[in-house]
Amino acid sequence: MDIQKEIFLKPYNTFGIDAKARYFIEINSVEELRQALQLEEYPEKFILGGGSNMLITGDINALVLHINIQGIEIVEEDNDQVILKSMAGENWHNLVLWTLEKGYGGLENMSLIPGNTGTAPIQNIGAYGVELRDTFVSCETINVADLTLKTFTKDDCRFGYRDSYFKNEGKGKYIITSVTLQLTKRNHRRNTSYGAIASELEKKGISDPKIKDISNAVITIRQSKLPDPKVLGNSGSFFKNPVISESEFHTFTKDHPNAPFYTISDNTYKIPAGWLIEQAGYKGRRFGDAGIHKDQALVLVNYGNATGQELIDLAWKIIEAVEKKFGIRIEPEVNIIA
Ligand SMILES: Cc1cc2nc3c(=O)[nH]c(=O)nc-3n(C[C@H](O)[C@H](O)[C@H](O)COP(=O)(O)OP(=O)(O)OC[C@H]3O[C@@H](n4cnc5c(N)ncnc54)[C@H](O)[C@@H]3O)c2cc1C
Repeated sequence: MDIQKEIFLKPYNTFGIDAKARYFIEINSVEELRQALQLEEYPEKFILGGGSNMLITGDINALVLHINIQGIEIVEEDNDQVILKSMAGENWHNLVLWTLEKGYGGLENMSLIPGNTGTAPIQNIGAYGVELRDTFVSCETINVADLTLKTFTKDDCRFGYRDSYFKNEGKGKYIITSVTLQLTKRNHRRNTSYGAIASELEKKGISDPKIKDISNAVITIRQSKLPDPKVLGNSGSFFKNPVISESEFHTFTKDHPNAPFYTISDNTYKIPAGWLIEQAGYKGRRFGDAGIHKDQALVLVNYGNATGQELIDLAWKIIEAVEKKFGIRIEPEVNIIA
Protein backbone atom coordinates (compact mmCIF):
# COMPACT_ATOMS: atom_id res chain seq x y z
CA MET A 1 0.00 0.00 0.00
CA ASP A 2 1.30 3.44 -0.93
CA ILE A 3 1.43 5.27 2.38
CA GLN A 4 2.68 8.84 2.04
CA LYS A 5 4.14 10.91 4.85
CA GLU A 6 3.67 14.53 5.93
CA ILE A 7 1.07 15.46 3.31
CA PHE A 8 -0.23 19.03 3.21
CA LEU A 9 -4.00 18.96 3.46
CA LYS A 10 -4.74 22.41 2.02
CA PRO A 11 -5.96 20.96 -1.32
CA TYR A 12 -8.07 18.39 0.53
CA ASN A 13 -10.28 20.69 2.62
CA THR A 14 -12.55 23.46 1.33
CA PHE A 15 -11.61 25.78 4.22
CA GLY A 16 -8.10 25.71 2.75
CA ILE A 17 -6.50 25.03 6.14
CA ASP A 18 -2.82 24.37 5.78
CA ALA A 19 -2.47 21.47 8.22
CA LYS A 20 -0.51 18.27 7.64
CA ALA A 21 -1.44 14.61 7.72
CA ARG A 22 1.27 12.53 9.39
CA TYR A 23 0.41 9.61 7.07
CA PHE A 24 -1.90 9.60 4.05
CA ILE A 25 -3.29 6.93 1.78
CA GLU A 26 -5.59 7.08 -1.23
CA ILE A 27 -8.38 4.47 -1.00
CA ASN A 28 -9.63 3.30 -4.40
CA SER A 29 -11.64 0.20 -3.51
CA VAL A 30 -13.48 -1.43 -0.63
CA GLU A 31 -10.74 -4.05 -0.48
CA GLU A 32 -8.07 -1.34 -0.11
CA LEU A 33 -10.15 0.20 2.65
CA ARG A 34 -10.37 -3.12 4.46
CA GLN A 35 -6.59 -3.62 4.14
CA ALA A 36 -5.83 -0.10 5.35
CA LEU A 37 -8.07 -0.53 8.38
CA GLN A 38 -6.05 -3.62 9.31
CA LEU A 39 -2.71 -1.77 9.40
CA GLU A 40 -1.89 -2.20 13.07
CA GLU A 41 1.27 -0.10 12.86
CA TYR A 42 -1.02 2.93 12.29
CA PRO A 43 -3.47 2.64 15.17
CA GLU A 44 -5.05 6.06 14.60
CA LYS A 45 -7.04 6.38 11.38
CA PHE A 46 -8.91 9.38 10.05
CA ILE A 47 -11.49 9.29 7.25
CA LEU A 48 -11.37 12.10 4.71
CA GLY A 49 -13.97 12.54 1.99
CA GLY A 50 -14.24 15.76 -0.02
CA GLY A 51 -13.14 17.79 3.04
CA SER A 52 -16.12 20.15 2.68
CA ASN A 53 -17.61 19.63 6.11
CA MET A 54 -14.65 19.88 8.41
CA LEU A 55 -12.54 22.45 10.18
CA ILE A 56 -9.08 21.04 10.77
CA THR A 57 -7.67 22.79 13.83
CA GLY A 58 -4.16 21.28 13.78
CA ASP A 59 -1.99 18.64 12.14
CA ILE A 60 -3.65 15.23 11.96
CA ASN A 61 -1.44 12.76 13.76
CA ALA A 62 -3.01 9.70 12.17
CA LEU A 63 -3.21 7.70 8.96
CA VAL A 64 -5.60 9.71 6.79
CA LEU A 65 -7.69 7.45 4.54
CA HIS A 66 -8.81 9.54 1.57
CA ILE A 67 -11.97 7.90 0.24
CA ASN A 68 -11.77 7.84 -3.54
CA ILE A 69 -13.79 4.72 -4.41
CA GLN A 70 -15.44 5.42 -7.78
CA GLY A 71 -18.32 3.87 -9.73
CA ILE A 72 -22.04 4.28 -10.40
CA GLU A 73 -24.23 1.34 -11.40
CA ILE A 74 -27.90 0.77 -12.07
CA VAL A 75 -29.14 -1.96 -9.77
CA GLU A 76 -32.75 -2.21 -10.92
CA GLU A 77 -35.17 -0.31 -13.10
CA ASP A 78 -38.64 -0.36 -14.58
CA ASN A 79 -40.54 2.16 -16.66
CA ASP A 80 -41.07 4.52 -13.73
CA GLN A 81 -38.16 4.16 -11.32
CA VAL A 82 -34.48 3.42 -11.24
CA ILE A 83 -32.43 2.20 -8.32
CA LEU A 84 -28.78 3.12 -8.55
CA LYS A 85 -25.74 2.55 -6.43
CA SER A 86 -22.95 5.10 -6.19
CA MET A 87 -19.63 4.27 -4.60
CA ALA A 88 -18.58 6.50 -1.71
CA GLY A 89 -15.80 8.45 -3.47
CA GLU A 90 -18.00 9.74 -6.29
CA ASN A 91 -18.29 13.50 -6.11
CA TRP A 92 -21.90 14.32 -5.17
CA HIS A 93 -22.45 17.00 -7.79
CA ASN A 94 -21.00 14.77 -10.52
CA LEU A 95 -23.51 12.10 -9.47
CA VAL A 96 -26.33 14.66 -9.70
CA LEU A 97 -25.19 15.68 -13.21
CA TRP A 98 -24.92 12.02 -14.23
CA THR A 99 -28.51 11.34 -13.11
CA LEU A 100 -29.79 14.43 -14.93
CA GLU A 101 -28.05 13.42 -18.14
CA LYS A 102 -29.94 10.12 -17.97
CA GLY A 103 -33.20 11.96 -17.22
CA TYR A 104 -33.54 10.63 -13.66
CA GLY A 105 -35.31 12.92 -11.21
CA GLY A 106 -34.93 13.42 -7.47
CA LEU A 107 -31.52 14.99 -6.91
CA GLU A 108 -31.85 18.20 -8.97
CA ASN A 109 -32.53 20.49 -5.98
CA MET A 110 -29.31 19.24 -4.37
CA SER A 111 -27.11 20.31 -7.28
CA LEU A 112 -23.71 21.77 -6.44
CA ILE A 113 -23.52 20.52 -2.85
CA PRO A 114 -19.81 19.78 -2.40
CA GLY A 115 -18.36 16.56 -1.04
CA ASN A 116 -18.53 12.84 -1.62
CA THR A 117 -21.63 10.71 -2.12
CA GLY A 118 -20.45 8.45 0.71
CA THR A 119 -20.55 11.32 3.19
CA ALA A 120 -24.03 12.49 2.15
CA PRO A 121 -25.96 10.22 4.57
CA ILE A 122 -23.96 11.39 7.60
CA GLN A 123 -25.68 14.74 7.81
CA ASN A 124 -28.58 13.85 5.50
CA ILE A 125 -27.50 16.56 3.07
CA GLY A 126 -30.22 18.81 1.82
CA ALA A 127 -31.00 21.99 -0.05
CA TYR A 128 -33.95 23.85 -1.51
CA GLY A 129 -36.64 21.76 0.18
CA VAL A 130 -35.15 18.33 -0.64
CA GLU A 131 -33.02 16.04 1.50
CA LEU A 132 -31.02 12.91 0.77
CA ARG A 133 -33.56 10.82 2.71
CA ASP A 134 -36.22 11.61 0.08
CA THR A 135 -34.50 9.31 -2.43
CA PHE A 136 -32.35 7.20 -0.12
CA VAL A 137 -32.77 3.41 -0.11
CA SER A 138 -29.73 2.13 1.81
CA CYS A 139 -26.00 2.41 2.27
CA GLU A 140 -23.28 -0.17 2.62
CA THR A 141 -20.73 0.25 5.37
CA ILE A 142 -17.71 -1.38 6.88
CA ASN A 143 -17.49 -1.63 10.64
CA VAL A 144 -14.22 -0.04 11.78
CA ALA A 145 -13.89 -2.31 14.82
CA ASP A 146 -14.33 -5.76 13.25
CA LEU A 147 -14.35 -5.04 9.48
CA THR A 148 -17.75 -6.68 8.98
CA LEU A 149 -20.00 -5.31 6.27
CA LYS A 150 -23.41 -3.96 7.17
CA THR A 151 -26.18 -2.49 5.03
CA PHE A 152 -28.17 0.32 6.65
CA THR A 153 -31.75 0.84 5.49
CA LYS A 154 -33.39 4.25 5.55
CA ASP A 155 -34.95 3.44 8.95
CA ASP A 156 -31.61 2.28 10.35
CA CYS A 157 -30.07 5.64 9.40
CA ARG A 158 -32.58 7.59 11.56
CA PHE A 159 -32.34 10.68 9.42
CA GLY A 160 -33.23 14.06 10.85
CA TYR A 161 -32.52 17.65 9.90
CA ARG A 162 -28.78 17.57 9.01
CA ASP A 163 -28.61 14.52 11.21
CA SER A 164 -28.44 10.74 11.22
CA TYR A 165 -27.42 7.71 13.25
CA PHE A 166 -23.88 8.24 11.87
CA LYS A 167 -23.61 11.58 13.65
CA ASN A 168 -24.83 10.16 16.94
CA GLU A 169 -24.54 6.58 18.30
CA GLY A 170 -22.86 5.42 15.09
CA LYS A 171 -20.30 8.24 15.02
CA GLY A 172 -16.88 7.00 13.94
CA LYS A 173 -18.00 3.35 14.02
CA TYR A 174 -18.75 2.79 10.32
CA ILE A 175 -17.28 3.88 7.03
CA ILE A 176 -19.86 4.25 4.28
CA THR A 177 -18.68 2.55 1.10
CA SER A 178 -21.69 3.06 -1.17
CA VAL A 179 -25.10 4.70 -1.28
CA THR A 180 -28.20 3.34 -3.05
CA LEU A 181 -30.89 5.76 -4.24
CA GLN A 182 -34.29 5.45 -5.88
CA LEU A 183 -35.00 8.02 -8.58
CA THR A 184 -37.86 8.66 -10.95
CA LYS A 185 -37.74 8.11 -14.72
CA ARG A 186 -41.00 9.95 -15.38
CA ASN A 187 -43.67 11.86 -13.45
CA HIS A 188 -40.89 13.58 -11.52
CA ARG A 189 -41.84 15.27 -8.25
CA ARG A 190 -40.69 18.73 -9.19
CA ASN A 191 -40.07 20.96 -6.21
CA THR A 192 -39.80 24.61 -7.14
CA SER A 193 -41.54 26.23 -4.21
CA TYR A 194 -38.49 26.66 -2.03
CA GLY A 195 -36.25 29.72 -1.89
CA ALA A 196 -35.70 31.59 -5.10
CA ILE A 197 -36.16 28.67 -7.53
CA ALA A 198 -39.54 29.81 -8.87
CA SER A 199 -38.40 33.39 -9.44
CA GLU A 200 -35.15 32.21 -11.06
CA LEU A 201 -37.16 30.03 -13.48
CA GLU A 202 -39.50 32.92 -14.18
CA LYS A 203 -36.52 35.16 -14.91
CA LYS A 204 -35.40 32.60 -17.49
CA GLY A 205 -38.92 32.47 -18.97
CA ILE A 206 -39.45 28.82 -18.00
CA SER A 207 -43.03 28.03 -16.93
CA ASP A 208 -42.94 24.22 -17.21
CA PRO A 209 -39.45 23.34 -15.94
CA LYS A 210 -37.69 20.10 -16.69
CA ILE A 211 -35.53 18.62 -13.93
CA LYS A 212 -32.43 19.95 -15.69
CA ASP A 213 -33.95 23.47 -15.61
CA ILE A 214 -34.46 23.15 -11.86
CA SER A 215 -30.86 22.04 -11.44
CA ASN A 216 -29.63 24.98 -13.53
CA ALA A 217 -31.73 27.39 -11.46
CA VAL A 218 -30.33 25.95 -8.21
CA ILE A 219 -26.78 26.24 -9.58
CA THR A 220 -27.33 29.88 -10.57
CA ILE A 221 -28.78 30.74 -7.16
CA ARG A 222 -26.05 28.93 -5.26
CA GLN A 223 -23.30 30.55 -7.31
CA SER A 224 -24.76 33.98 -6.65
CA LYS A 225 -25.22 33.41 -2.91
CA LEU A 226 -22.47 31.16 -1.64
CA PRO A 227 -18.73 31.83 -1.85
CA ASP A 228 -16.86 29.37 -4.08
CA PRO A 229 -14.40 27.49 -1.82
CA LYS A 230 -11.84 27.59 -4.66
CA VAL A 231 -11.85 31.38 -4.37
CA LEU A 232 -12.62 31.92 -0.68
CA GLY A 233 -12.08 29.06 1.77
CA ASN A 234 -15.25 28.01 3.58
CA SER A 235 -17.28 25.02 4.63
CA GLY A 236 -20.77 26.17 3.70
CA SER A 237 -23.11 26.81 6.62
CA PHE A 238 -20.90 26.66 9.65
CA PHE A 239 -23.75 26.60 12.18
CA LYS A 240 -26.99 24.64 12.42
CA ASN A 241 -30.26 26.52 12.67
CA PRO A 242 -31.28 26.04 16.31
CA VAL A 243 -34.53 24.22 17.05
CA ILE A 244 -36.23 25.50 20.20
CA SER A 245 -39.16 24.38 22.33
CA GLU A 246 -42.54 26.05 22.70
CA SER A 247 -41.64 27.75 26.00
CA GLU A 248 -38.26 28.96 24.67
CA PHE A 249 -40.05 30.22 21.56
CA HIS A 250 -42.50 32.26 23.65
CA THR A 251 -39.73 33.94 25.61
CA PHE A 252 -37.78 34.56 22.41
CA THR A 253 -40.65 36.10 20.41
CA LYS A 254 -41.72 38.29 23.35
CA ASP A 255 -38.33 40.00 23.20
CA HIS A 256 -37.92 39.75 19.42
CA PRO A 257 -41.39 39.90 17.83
CA ASN A 258 -40.04 40.42 14.30
CA ALA A 259 -37.62 37.51 14.30
CA PRO A 260 -38.00 35.02 11.43
CA PHE A 261 -38.82 31.38 12.32
CA TYR A 262 -40.09 28.13 10.82
CA THR A 263 -42.62 25.93 12.59
CA ILE A 264 -41.25 22.38 12.74
CA SER A 265 -44.02 20.76 14.76
CA ASP A 266 -46.70 21.76 17.27
CA ASN A 267 -44.08 22.53 19.88
CA THR A 268 -40.76 23.03 18.08
CA TYR A 269 -39.52 25.99 16.06
CA LYS A 270 -36.43 26.58 13.97
CA ILE A 271 -34.74 29.99 14.12
CA PRO A 272 -32.36 30.96 11.26
CA ALA A 273 -28.88 31.02 12.82
CA GLY A 274 -27.77 33.53 10.15
CA TRP A 275 -30.31 36.05 11.47
CA LEU A 276 -29.14 35.52 15.07
CA ILE A 277 -25.50 36.03 14.05
CA GLU A 278 -26.32 39.12 12.03
CA GLN A 279 -28.29 40.62 14.94
CA ALA A 280 -25.37 39.84 17.25
CA GLY A 281 -23.30 42.09 14.99
CA TYR A 282 -20.98 39.55 13.40
CA LYS A 283 -22.02 39.49 9.74
CA GLY A 284 -19.16 40.63 7.50
CA ARG A 285 -16.64 41.04 10.32
CA ARG A 286 -13.05 40.01 9.87
CA PHE A 287 -10.42 39.09 12.45
CA GLY A 288 -7.09 38.68 10.65
CA ASP A 289 -7.74 36.13 7.92
CA ALA A 290 -10.74 34.57 9.70
CA GLY A 291 -14.10 36.14 9.04
CA ILE A 292 -17.83 35.93 8.54
CA HIS A 293 -19.02 36.27 4.97
CA LYS A 294 -20.38 39.72 4.08
CA ASP A 295 -23.64 38.36 2.61
CA GLN A 296 -24.03 35.06 4.48
CA ALA A 297 -23.73 35.32 8.24
CA LEU A 298 -23.83 31.51 8.52
CA VAL A 299 -20.64 31.09 6.53
CA LEU A 300 -17.23 31.45 8.17
CA VAL A 301 -14.48 32.19 5.67
CA ASN A 302 -10.73 31.90 5.40
CA TYR A 303 -9.35 34.97 3.62
CA GLY A 304 -6.08 33.15 2.95
CA ASN A 305 -3.95 32.08 5.84
CA ALA A 306 -6.33 31.67 8.76
CA THR A 307 -5.52 28.69 10.93
CA GLY A 308 -8.17 26.25 12.03
CA GLN A 309 -7.63 27.46 15.59
CA GLU A 310 -8.33 31.08 14.59
CA LEU A 311 -11.55 30.02 12.88
CA ILE A 312 -12.73 27.93 15.81
CA ASP A 313 -11.91 30.78 18.22
CA LEU A 314 -14.09 33.03 16.08
CA ALA A 315 -16.86 30.42 16.06
CA TRP A 316 -16.86 30.28 19.90
CA LYS A 317 -16.95 34.08 20.05
CA ILE A 318 -20.04 34.07 17.83
CA ILE A 319 -21.71 31.28 19.83
CA GLU A 320 -21.19 33.23 23.07
CA ALA A 321 -22.40 36.53 21.57
CA VAL A 322 -25.59 34.88 20.25
CA GLU A 323 -26.23 33.15 23.57
CA LYS A 324 -25.71 36.37 25.50
CA LYS A 325 -28.10 38.31 23.26
CA PHE A 326 -30.83 35.71 22.70
CA GLY A 327 -30.36 32.95 25.30
CA ILE A 328 -30.11 30.48 22.41
CA ARG A 329 -27.02 28.35 21.99
CA ILE A 330 -26.14 27.68 18.35
CA GLU A 331 -23.98 24.71 17.41
CA PRO A 332 -21.49 24.07 14.63
CA GLU A 333 -22.78 21.96 11.74
CA VAL A 334 -19.21 21.47 10.54
CA ASN A 335 -17.05 18.71 12.05
CA ILE A 336 -14.34 20.21 14.24
CA ILE A 337 -11.20 18.12 13.85
CA ALA A 338 -9.06 18.59 16.98
C1 LIG B 1 -19.73 25.89 -0.24
C2 LIG B 1 -20.42 24.78 0.51
C3 LIG B 1 -21.79 24.62 0.43
C4 LIG B 1 -22.43 23.59 1.11
N1 LIG B 1 -23.78 23.47 0.98
C5 LIG B 1 -24.43 22.47 1.61
C6 LIG B 1 -25.84 22.31 1.46
O1 LIG B 1 -26.49 23.06 0.74
N2 LIG B 1 -26.45 21.29 2.12
C7 LIG B 1 -25.75 20.42 2.91
O2 LIG B 1 -26.37 19.51 3.48
N3 LIG B 1 -24.41 20.55 3.07
C8 LIG B 1 -23.74 21.54 2.45
N4 LIG B 1 -22.38 21.68 2.59
C9 LIG B 1 -21.68 20.74 3.50
C10 LIG B 1 -21.03 19.54 2.77
O3 LIG B 1 -21.10 19.68 1.39
C11 LIG B 1 -21.68 18.22 3.17
O4 LIG B 1 -21.68 18.06 4.57
C12 LIG B 1 -21.00 17.02 2.53
O5 LIG B 1 -21.80 15.87 2.71
C13 LIG B 1 -19.61 16.75 3.13
O6 LIG B 1 -18.99 15.75 2.34
P1 LIG B 1 -17.43 15.56 2.32
O7 LIG B 1 -17.14 14.32 1.56
O8 LIG B 1 -16.74 16.77 1.86
O9 LIG B 1 -17.14 15.32 3.88
P2 LIG B 1 -15.78 15.50 4.69
O10 LIG B 1 -15.63 16.93 5.08
O11 LIG B 1 -14.64 14.88 3.99
O12 LIG B 1 -16.11 14.64 6.00
C14 LIG B 1 -17.09 15.02 6.92
C15 LIG B 1 -17.10 14.00 8.07
O13 LIG B 1 -17.50 12.73 7.60
C16 LIG B 1 -16.48 11.73 7.82
N5 LIG B 1 -16.50 10.90 6.59
C17 LIG B 1 -16.11 11.27 5.34
N6 LIG B 1 -16.36 10.27 4.46
C18 LIG B 1 -16.91 9.26 5.18
C19 LIG B 1 -17.39 7.96 4.84
N7 LIG B 1 -17.37 7.48 3.59
N8 LIG B 1 -17.88 7.18 5.84
C20 LIG B 1 -17.92 7.63 7.13
N9 LIG B 1 -17.48 8.85 7.51
C21 LIG B 1 -16.98 9.65 6.55
C22 LIG B 1 -15.21 12.52 8.03
O14 LIG B 1 -14.29 11.82 8.86
C23 LIG B 1 -15.73 13.78 8.71
O15 LIG B 1 -15.92 13.56 10.08
C24 LIG B 1 -21.69 22.69 1.91
C25 LIG B 1 -20.30 22.83 2.00
C26 LIG B 1 -19.66 23.86 1.31
C27 LIG B 1 -18.17 23.99 1.39
